[in-house]
Amino acid sequence: MDVAASYDRLSDGPARYRANGLGGRVVVLPATCRRGTHQLPAAGFRALASDGAIVVDCFACGAGEPVNQWRLSMSGAIAERAEFDDQPYANRPARPVKQ
Ligand SMILES: [Zn+2]
Repeated sequence: MDVAASYDRLSDGPARYRANGLGGRVVVLPATCRRGTHQLPAAGFRALASDGAIVVDCFACGAGEPVNQWRLSMSGAIAERAEFDDQPYANRPARPVKQ
């Protein structure tokens, strides 16, 4: 399997950023896992930034499976903090689930 190609196919588009009151950069991560079944702060998660993307795993779904991951492309300066908000990601289509 071509891992790079499958990651491209599973991309969830750009990560959203906002500025906090002190002018710092905050990256906004989805609060709900990619499968839509868990709240990440409660279920446990891992957010890993590498190769220009932030990959967010849900421990309840199973970390390390691309189908369970949010994969958001990064842009600009590195964010100092992260916050959770589902709203910017509300319109992302659901993952195709193999039957
Ligand atoms: Zn989950």
